[in-house]
Amino acid sequence: MDVDVAQYLGRLAKIYGEIGQEYDKAAGKYGGFSCEGCTDNCCTTVFHHHTLIENLYLIEGFEGLDVKKKEEAVIRAKKYVEELSDHPFDMTELSIMCPLNVEGKCEAYEYRPLICRIHGMPGILHSPKGTKEFDGCPVFMEQHGNSISHRIDRTSFYTDIAFIERDLREEMVFTEKHRKTIAEMIVDYTRDEITLSKRLRPEDFHKDSHII
Ligand code: SF4
Repeated sequence: MDVDVAQYLGRLAKIYGEIGQEYDKAAGKYGGFSCEGCTDNCCTTVFHHHTLIENLYLIEGFEGLDVKKKEEAVIRAKKYVEELSDHPFDMTELSIMCPLNVEGKCEAYEYRPLICRIHGMPGILHSPKGTKEFDGCPVFMEQHGNSISHRIDRTSFYTDIAFIERDLREEMVFTEKHRKTIAEMIVDYTRDEITLSKRLRPEDFHKDSHII
């Protein structure tokens, strides 16, 4: 299979940059709201991510870690997946630290998925089914919950990422559903026995793939 993943990763990087700008703008409207020093770590929330392209992007970040950090992340990821499998029906109530969070810091910060970038700030999403509003994180709500004046509009970001995903899947001829935690992305990536398309190694699709 020879799919040029780099162009899709580049498109995603551009959207992530725009999300960062939107986040900063929104934070500015709330007195420079910041996650700095927060002990109520949102990286313990169990999130599932639904796009191949974000999976590939995250794996680029994981691949950039040194060998020891990677090995340690894999051990944590396996433990995470085990714990998750013990709670198949109540996982949203779980609080498990993401395997990429070490001492409160994300080891793949530049490569983190969309939800890690917008969680915290109140949001809004317009779709043909209607408009949905999202609260900010508990810390935000405690500080500003009674006076929400601005929400990050997720609509164009979700739409643009969906377009990238559609184009990538078309080129890969990939139709399977995708639903993985960060831990599952890491475990699946490092498991040799699963199929190539599920392993999602960027270099398997194109030798020169890298984020520009
Ligand atoms: S990828 Fe990074 S920011 Fe996202 S949950 Fe994991 S440690 Fe936190």
